Amino acid sequence: MVDKLREAIRDVPDFPKEGILFKDITTLCQDPVSFQRMVDLMSHHYLDKDIDVIVGIEARGFIVGAALAYKLGCGVVLVRKPGKLPYKTHKATYTLEYGEDTLEIHQDAIKKGQRVLIADDLLATGGTAEAVIKLVEKLEGNIVDCSFIVELNDLKGRERIAPHSVFSLIKY
Ligand code: AMP
Repeated sequence: MVDKLREAIRDVPDFPKEGILFKDITTLCQDPVSFQRMVDLMSHHYLDKDIDVIVGIEARGFIVGAALAYKLGCGVVLVRKPGKLPYKTHKATYTLEYGEDTLEIHQDAIKKGQRVLIADDLLATGGTAEAVIKLVEKLEGNIVDCSFIVELNDLKGRERIAPHSVFSLIKY
């Protein structure tokens, strides 16, 4: 089943810049069977985990996060790029290959002790997930797991966000 999902992901060489092999999940999402299978397989992993809220990371993480939240019957929270969230926010800045970036979360998005699942399409170096972990920790959420459709093993994102646990459907 996972092999079919792997086939549904499109490789785009040299995007967004030379040397990067972009794992494009839009082809998986636009195929109804693959999309449903992805959501079913990921949500199955959390059926007995009592998740209160899923944090989706802009933008492809919103798709994964919202679908999982619906399946698990829990809430969904948005982590967005700067200036997009209308209410008071906390910010976390993290380093990219060149320069830095910032992510924001609403200050009242998570209540202390809530069981949180972080969701995105892909784990690469783990810098993005690490910033989101900081935001959730600032709100005293209890991070149960970090969940991704795709994990790029060589970039060691899993090590970077340890001791937080990682689940991914497809590894390269
Ligand atoms: P990182 O912070 O290095 O773990 O990068 C993860 C974020 O960048 C995710 O939101 C991904 O959507 C995106 N990303 C990084 N590398 C790739 C890649 N090779 N293919 C697709 N998306 C990527």
